Amino acid sequence: MTKNYTSTRDNSVHISAKAAIEKGFSDDKGLFVYPNLGDTQVDLAKLITLSYTDIARAVLAKLLPDFSAEEISESVDNAYRHSFDSDQITPVVAVDDFHVLELFHGPTSAFKDVGLQLLPQLMKHVLVADHKIMILTATSGDTGKAALEGFKDLHHMGIIVFYPDGGVSPIQKLQMVTTGGHNTKVAAIKGNFDDAQTNVKRIFNDQALKNAIGEDVNLSSANSINIGRLIPQVVYYFDAYKQLVNNGTIKTGDKVNFTVPTGNFGDVLAGYYAKLLGLPVDKFVVACNENNVLANFFKHGVYDRNRPFFQTVAPSMDIQVSSNFERLLYYKSGEDSAYVKQLMDDLEDSGKYEVSKDVLARIQADFYCGYSTDDEIEAGIKAVYQKTGYLMDPHTAAGYKVMRDYQQIDSQTPMILLSTASPYKFVNAVADAILPETAADPLQVMKDLEAKTHVQIPDNLREVWDLPVRHESVIEKDQMSDYVQAKIEEVFYDQDQSASN
Ligand SMILES: *Cc1c(COP(=O)(O)O)cnc(C)c1O
Repeated sequence: MTKNYTSTRDNSVHISAKAAIEKGFSDDKGLFVYPNLGDTQVDLAKLITLSYTDIARAVLAKLLPDFSAEEISESVDNAYRHSFDSDQITPVVAVDDFHVLELFHGPTSAFKDVGLQLLPQLMKHVLVADHKIMILTATSGDTGKAALEGFKDLHHMGIIVFYPDGGVSPIQKLQMVTTGGHNTKVAAIKGNFDDAQTNVKRIFNDQALKNAIGEDVNLSSANSINIGRLIPQVVYYFDAYKQLVNNGTIKTGDKVNFTVPTGNFGDVLAGYYAKLLGLPVDKFVVACNENNVLANFFKHGVYDRNRPFFQTVAPSMDIQVSSNFERLLYYKSGEDSAYVKQLMDDLEDSGKYEVSKDVLARIQADFYCGYSTDDEIEAGIKAVYQKTGYLMDPHTAAGYKVMRDYQQIDSQTPMILLSTASPYKFVNAVADAILPETAADPLQVMKDLEAKTHVQIPDNLREVWDLPVRHESVIEKDQMSDYVQAKIEEVFYDQDQSASN
């Protein structure tokens, strides 16, 4: 079997894409990466004649060489055939003097659907014989629902999502607790997100639990560091380029720029993979919110997480350690895994690390980074709506602000701004920018915003209010392990239950 992947922290590791997807991350705590990626090139001229799903097939064939063409084809079909409300999957919309790549047309109206619709389909082909996978996920919001939808009703797979009780928005909670499917379980934890995450990590190492559930059931995660979630995101960069060629904005071979609202650095890293594979990109503009650890790094080459944490109006970007940035350090250090390991050890010991001037310069050659305050986010939502009628969510608006900053440096290269959520997903921040006053009930806020802007509420967010609540568990943090064991019994061994669904 082709073992194309290695670890960012130990390049003596050789592992196949399938094994990398099953494991999630390396035993040395590094992330799996594809070395010498620039040696592999796609046929750009051909790619831009294809549909989204055919581009996906071509890109996945390059990056997942141990999957058969049939496995890739079936996975892509199952992931995208029925679940997106746009035939284009990720349509590009012209707004003012730039272009918006809308990534929120999936079943939960968040960009995480693009990765989390395909990851479970790929995992299916990783399972051997009668083995089963139970996915455990701690969520602070969007990932939970997107993961539930991706794994719902898949054979030999189940998913358990833990969220902090009172720690997610009313819409996010409602989306999760109304999820159908015989193999989906959701519990609120009496504690915060860190408690949920820490305990999930503990469960992965809980030998007593592993003995109890037996060897046939693997525990795995749907975390954004899994290459099976990252690689599907490479596709829309090529597809967006195709759309600009098709509408006459650019000719094949012209360079474009992308602006990416960034948290864990997965989305923008997927763009860099596209560039390494041959997509003509000049710069990636990385946008943070007030949690601007990355923006500071770009100035001085020092990554320092020892600073206050802010809750912002763009909560999916409220992150201090961007896990996937480790992968960029690997490529930009000349694939020097000993160097990356040293930096990551420094980060663990002191909360910071410093890269060499060379490494920083190589990063700055491909990336620009800035940040947006909450006030600037709100001002951007308002200004763009008033000028064009286009409604941005707060994450997209953080990108908009940094995009405008970058355009002071280069205003010529066509710019594509990635939009990572429907404005109705984070409706209060949007309403505060657009409406004279905001109602107390979130459904009413949605309806008021729709009446004012004539931008339609996505069906899944309109209908969620009428669905029955199916998951009401609220548990103590020290009950999580028992809960997992009980739910594994229920999902995989309780025949009556699966038969009745
Ligand atoms: C997850 C998320 C992001 C950040 O994406 P990363 O891949 O973590 O950088 C941005 N916006 C929204 C709405 C998200 O859900």
